[in-house]
Amino acid sequence: MPEPLFPALARGSTREALRFGDHLLTYDDLAAVAAGLARELPQGRVAVWATPTVHTSVAVVAALLAGVPAVPLNPKIGERELAHILADSEPQLVLAEPGVPLPEGLDGVPRRDIPLTGGGAEIPEEPDPETPALIVYTSGTTGPPKGVVLPRRAIAATLDALEDAWGWTDGDVLVHALPLFHVHGLILGILGPLRRGGSVRHLGRFSTEGVAHELANGATMMFGVPTMYHRIAGEVGTDTTLADALKSARLLVSGSAALPVHDHQRITAATGQQVVERYGMTETLMNTSVRADGERKPGTVGVPLRGVEVRLVGDAGEVIEDVDTVGEIQVRGPNLFTGYLNRPDATAAAFDGEWFRTGDMATRDADGYVRIVGRKATDLIKSGGYKIGAGEIENALLEHPGVAEAAVTGEPDDDLGERIVAWIVPSGTPPAEDELADHVAKLLAPHKRPRVVRFLDALPRNDMGKVMKRALGA
Ligand code: ATP
Ligand code: MG
Repeated sequence: MPEPLFPALARGSTREALRFGDHLLTYDDLAAVAAGLARELPQGRVAVWATPTVHTSVAVVAALLAGVPAVPLNPKIGERELAHILADSEPQLVLAEPGVPLPEGLDGVPRRDIPLTGGGAEIPEEPDPETPALIVYTSGTTGPPKGVVLPRRAIAATLDALEDAWGWTDGDVLVHALPLFHVHGLILGILGPLRRGGSVRHLGRFSTEGVAHELANGATMMFGVPTMYHRIAGEVGTDTTLADALKSARLLVSGSAALPVHDHQRITAATGQQVVERYGMTETLMNTSVRADGERKPGTVGVPLRGVEVRLVGDAGEVIEDVDTVGEIQVRGPNLFTGYLNRPDATAAAFDGEWFRTGDMATRDADGYVRIVGRKATDLIKSGGYKIGAGEIENALLEHPGVAEAAVTGEPDDDLGERIVAWIVPSGTPPAEDELADHVAKLLAPHKRPRVVRFLDALPRNDMGKVMKRALGA
């Protein structure tokens, strides 16, 4: 029989597994309620209305125990996206927190309220590792979300590789403020601690006070997206309660988008902590990470995780061996998805043999650390015969005191091919455009100088805080 995905559930334990406000579930509570719900689930797929509470975890664990693929849905999803996902994934049932209203779009799908108590049935036999466990839709940063079919094998492989990289144990208590319908919050943030036998404390909603409170009261790690660390970086220099709480953390991890170097440095200056960055995708789960016991190197996403092979491939399909040379990241390993749901064409186009084409561009240094330059489609600017990564310019802009947020795109230009455009959310009175452009040219190189500077009140971001560069014309 295959190894259980959650040994601590099978073994039984009175330790705390999940907590949100007044709701607390031990491993024994969770095993009982999830196994009970698992027995009731129909074959076929089930949707989970993924509110940021312990209910979602109970529903997903029940589906995993039953071997029924779960489709987590964003509780703030718009009508069109919901219709797209329902037509694509055809769930038999939707599991939802009692009392939470569902949108009309779900009218045709039977509802089952998620229990938090009772159950008590025996844990079903562990399904085959290749059984689809979750269908997670991509963030939709670059186009309509695609349904990614993730087998149990990929989830186990990625979580075990992270255990190796982060020294993750059953003693770890995670502060959780991420959405539960993407890989970061659901697979790393919930299934990760449950596989290790550790525990999760949900904040429901991110706040620096909430993070500080949990870290000061026994939590050992935090997983966040860069927008959260940006908030922390802005407050930690003056808020000693927050600084002390962060100092006490074992591990702070950032992912889902690039963590600006400036934010990393501000957090280190105030706390001595260095945020660990990792890089992954819905399709591949986690690929690389800075190791907890290794050198941190801000601006990099670390080295390939155990079991994951990473190669960089140039425009002509050549594998790049040289250091500091840009190529597309391709990945091979047990962490990969099975395919896109109902999209054999897209699945075939995404692979070169066994290698998955991530669409992300990067360089590697002499120690094998990967530095992401940006997405091939939106972050690589071809200007004046140079290939310029948006990320480096964004990092430079963020070092200017007048800049709160920055995004860089390319725009067609008769002379240069593309010209560099800087989109800036100022942190007060907007700095002069020339001053910002000079600042970049001085820090980096003259050909990386933005030709156009545009000021905005806010950058267009999705629910993971990722900048939607298509909305900026990229
Ligand atoms: P879609 O595929 O629908 O356009 P998406 O690619 O944003 O959306 P996800 O699978 O959630 O959907 O995100 C994966 C992408 O996030 C990666 O391809 C990469 O571009 C980016 N990413 C993740 N972690 C990092 C990181 N640490 N640094 C830079 N980029 C990152
Ligand atoms: Mg993607």
